[in-house]
Amino acid sequence: MRSTLKHFINGEWRVRSDSAIFDVVNPATEEVSGQIPLGNGAEVDDAVAAARAAFGVFGNSSREERLERLIAIGAGFDRRRDELAEAISEEIGSPIAIARNAHLYFALEHIRVGIEALRDFEFEVVRGCSLVRLEPIGVCGLITPWNWPASVVMAKVVPALAVGCTIVLKPSEYAPYSAEIIAQIIEDAGYAPGVFNLVYGDGPTVGAAISGHPGIDAVSFTGSTRAGIEVARNAAATVKRVHQELGGKSPNILLPSADFDTVVPSGITALMLNSGQTCSAPSRMLVPNDRLEEVKAITRRAMADVTVGTPDSNAFIGPVINASQFSKIQSLIEQGIAEGATIVAGGSGRPAGFERGYYVQPTVFADTTPDMAIVREEIFGPVLVIQGYDDVEDAIAKATDTPYGLAAYVHGADLAQVRGSRSHSGGAGHSQRCADRRLAALRRLQAIG
Ligand code: NAD
Repeated sequence: MRSTLKHFINGEWRVRSDSAIFDVVNPATEEVSGQIPLGNGAEVDDAVAAARAAFGVFGNSSREERLERLIAIGAGFDRRRDELAEAISEEIGSPIAIARNAHLYFALEHIRVGIEALRDFEFEVVRGCSLVRLEPIGVCGLITPWNWPASVVMAKVVPALAVGCTIVLKPSEYAPYSAEIIAQIIEDAGYAPGVFNLVYGDGPTVGAAISGHPGIDAVSFTGSTRAGIEVARNAAATVKRVHQELGGKSPNILLPSADFDTVVPSGITALMLNSGQTCSAPSRMLVPNDRLEEVKAITRRAMADVTVGTPDSNAFIGPVINASQFSKIQSLIEQGIAEGATIVAGGSGRPAGFERGYYVQPTVFADTTPDMAIVREEIFGPVLVIQGYDDVEDAIAKATDTPYGLAAYVHGADLAQVRGSRSHSGGAGHSQRCADRRLAALRRLQAIG
């Protein structure tokens, strides 16, 4: 059991003695593995005040100084790789090799790419007779989810620090351990107090205090659509900039010319990785109706590689994050069965041999219809839905028949075909309308001039 974590505010680790506490549960054992303090509005106020004060200097720091600090963060990550992988594995139940080779890999890539981009980023550009100067926006409120904990934190922290913004981070209450190590690494990298602050807490208290705070200039939020709407609503009164990455139910269209022996297994792996808890995962596989039986046979074979195991095993996936996700996924699997979809692999309940832990059977459904809950809702678990299509028009119609818009994948087409297909979904019409609007606006300006 880890001891209670602390907030990191203005360069100090601190916690109120009367703080409410949140129990962090190990998803693999269902046992409490540690605790975090649930911050409040006053702690967010302190963190924002520190970040505002630090921005005065850090916002004017040189590119060289910021590069040096980012390189120090990268070195810190390298030094603490094992600890970080263990923390991720403990907080979200990920098999240790996946924590190391996927979670840490992506987090490190955000640092590498950030350093590369900063080296020759043009902060000043001359356009005609104007000088456009890009400046750091100020204090950034960063709110992150649990599913790719270190990676999403670094995807936000690195660009903010690269350009000279200061930060108030609220990591997910379900995955606080890797965030603590990241804060220590940033502290060791030599930033001035207040440049980076971390406040633990839940969404409705700390998350809402960040999104509604008048001292925060921009909020970057990654998480559910439900919480994203709340963040935008709370932020509106202060007219701050809001950047959101929300949920998905992303289609993966396999065209007849694709090599099904390759793309079916790779589509399955991409969805199942991280127990299906990836916002951009290809969770709907669209295949030609007349190839459905072939796809089912390949799927049955490929699912043998989607092994489930404990965090210390060599399995491909571990449990899902918590009890509520576990029951949501179970009820969607049951609903899929009740609505008449065919189970190609998996099913409801835990996999054989697991009595405890939020382990879900990796499941694939076929013979689905577009109105089924498993086709429409973001399951956010190891559940793949196969949809049949008649022709490319039908595939595109089914792929875009969703309120989500995060990602989409096509296999078996060359780039020219994919570009051409935009006209089917109104893409070309849209750009024509934009071009028409630009021309009309230009004419109006000319008339005024
Ligand atoms: P969540 O929305 O419950 O929580 C995300 C973060 O927001 C957490 O830190 C949480 O404490 C906070 N939060 C919750 N309610 C809030 C509120 N009212 N105001 C401010 N903050 C609030 O999401 P989750 O369960 O942690 O993550 C799963 C969801 O995140 C899925 O829907 C997934 O698709 C999405 N996600 C999207 C991306 C992306 O890049 N698009 C990446 C990862 C996850």
